[in-house]
Formats: sequence, C-alpha cells, structure tokens
Amino acid sequence: MTQKELFKTNHTDLGIMNGWNWDNPPAEYTQHLAECGTERIALIYHGDPKNPTEEIVRDYNESYTNLGTCYNQITCNDCGITYRVDSSG
Ligand SMILES: [Zn+2]
Repeated sequence: MTQKELFKTNHTDLGIMNGWNWDNPPAEYTQHLAECGTERIALIYHGDPKNPTEEIVRDYNESYTNLGTCYNQITCNDCGITYRVDSSG
C-alpha cells in the first residue's frame, strides 16, 4: 500500500473549512469537537486580569501542516479527520 492509499484509509478528508456550511457542519467535525482531545481546567480572563474564572477547555491532539502562506492542513490524531483552513481572509 502506498503512503497516499494509507492516508486515505486512515483519514476522513473534510475539505476546506472555509467552504463549510456552518448551519450544518460536517458530522465528523462535530463529533471530533465533542469527543477528541482532553479536558482541562483553565483560568480564563474575560478582560479583567484580576478576576479570572475557571472554565473547562479542550486540548486537541492535532497535527498542523503548512501548505502555503495562511494555508494550513489540520489532522486530528485521535479520530483521523483532516481539513484545511485558508486564513488569508
Ligand atoms: Zn478528532
């Protein structure tokens, strides 16, 4: 099996995030947000450096590949989804 075939087998390619319909995002991505990564307690400062609140945030186990200026591919090492983000505006 070639590397490319292996990648296709193990990853669900969701395409470019910029093209998603946010009223109906890909189910794999919704599931990824809910189930991947690990939760931790973080101190969040809502504009007041003296008054942080404790909130649960998630750290995701993701790999970033830079494909070009402001263009990145993100792959989740837990569920295997991969998608690209164009942040050039
Ligand atoms: Zn995931």
